Amino acid sequence: MKSLKKFDPEIYKTILDEARRENDNLELIASENFANEHILEAQGSVLTNKYAEGYPGARWYNGCRNVDIVEEIAIARAKKLFGAEHVNVQPHAGTPANMVVYFAMLNIGDTVMAMDLACGGHLSHGNPHNFSGKFYKIVPYGVDRKTERLDYEEIARLAKQHKPRMIIAGASAYPRAIDFKAFRTIADSVGAYLLVDIAHIAGLVAAGVHQSPVPYAEFVTSTTHKTLRGPRGAFIMCKSEFAKKIDMEVFPGAQGGPLMHIIAAKAVCFKEAMTPEFKTYQKQILKNAKVFSDEMAKLGYRIVAGGTDTHLFLVDLTNKFMTGRDAATALDRAGITVNKNLIPYDPKSPLVASGIRIGTPAVTTRGMKEAEMVKIAHMIGEVLTDPNNERNLIAVKKEVGGLVKKFPLYKDLIRRLEKE
Ligand SMILES: *Cc1c(COP(=O)(O)O)cnc(C)c1O
Repeated sequence: MKSLKKFDPEIYKTILDEARRENDNLELIASENFANEHILEAQGSVLTNKYAEGYPGARWYNGCRNVDIVEEIAIARAKKLFGAEHVNVQPHAGTPANMVVYFAMLNIGDTVMAMDLACGGHLSHGNPHNFSGKFYKIVPYGVDRKTERLDYEEIARLAKQHKPRMIIAGASAYPRAIDFKAFRTIADSVGAYLLVDIAHIAGLVAAGVHQSPVPYAEFVTSTTHKTLRGPRGAFIMCKSEFAKKIDMEVFPGAQGGPLMHIIAAKAVCFKEAMTPEFKTYQKQILKNAKVFSDEMAKLGYRIVAGGTDTHLFLVDLTNKFMTGRDAATALDRAGITVNKNLIPYDPKSPLVASGIRIGTPAVTTRGMKEAEMVKIAHMIGEVLTDPNNERNLIAVKKEVGGLVKKFPLYKDLIRRLEKE
């Protein structure tokens, strides 16, 4: 980044500082990950210069021969990786990808069933401030109060009662495996479309360690930057019969020119996801989450839904007389990054919340395994036992420093930047 350093030292410095921050902290936000350098290189390329409205072989602009190849490769790889009939790799992010499916298949005012945000759903599944909550009649389904798991019989009952035109499965903060086949049966029982949003679990699905929704759902949306560990972006998979509708709704419906540099990085991400190493990585994410949540439970913390089948788990802090917000703030000061999170049927507001969400994708990318998860659980325990004790926080931060040093991140990149 020599030319950036020369032209804009302020921005250069913040990029270097961010690389250092990522290296120096323990990143446990479940939706975050660290893209490999081959992804960053594709993302930072001259492909950012090219306008390519339309699709490969049918663009509105000339000069698209190289970007056509890039997009064709990205599509072919995604189809192979997930076994999808049709893929659109142009959506800029997960929320617009969901918007495309809504706009393509629904009329304003139609009924949509989706997971309650307070039980782990995403804002694009019906938050009243989001387009989804404004344009459609949202019928939320939650989790069972006792088991804190999806209750498929109850979802089936709600579907019969409300006759939705579309049912959405998928979540941002649900720790257990989701049965997409059961959702298909429910959707069929009322003639609804099924949209599955695998933004969080796409990496697990790609590696075959979580059931795939692709055989069961008409539409599957996903981001590329969470467990999939690619660039910030999204894509849509669908059955062939909806291909034209979805493509038209992405462009010209919802977007203009696609981000060809990001699409190139998505192609690289799909290639990476086909490697045996990626499969091993996803398996390790699951092992780490399980050991981590078990250890937290041993330390006396209540784990929502009794544990995890995925890359994340939720800790209920109610019995510790602490809010999610205060816990996340104290942990941040000790160099441990988590987010506050509502727990099912949380009496507190989302700004305060009774729990925290912990995810293992990013620390697993650094190479950490079960032994490190146990250590981190104890560090969290130390912080939360005495969250206002400054000396305690400093002591844990030192421990964090010692641990992250053994698992360096972007080592060569930081060294190169420092030498420039
Ligand atoms: C993260 C996420 C998205 C997409 O979010 P963007 O920030 O718009 O990319 C969509 N659905 C779910 C369930 C998510 O967790």
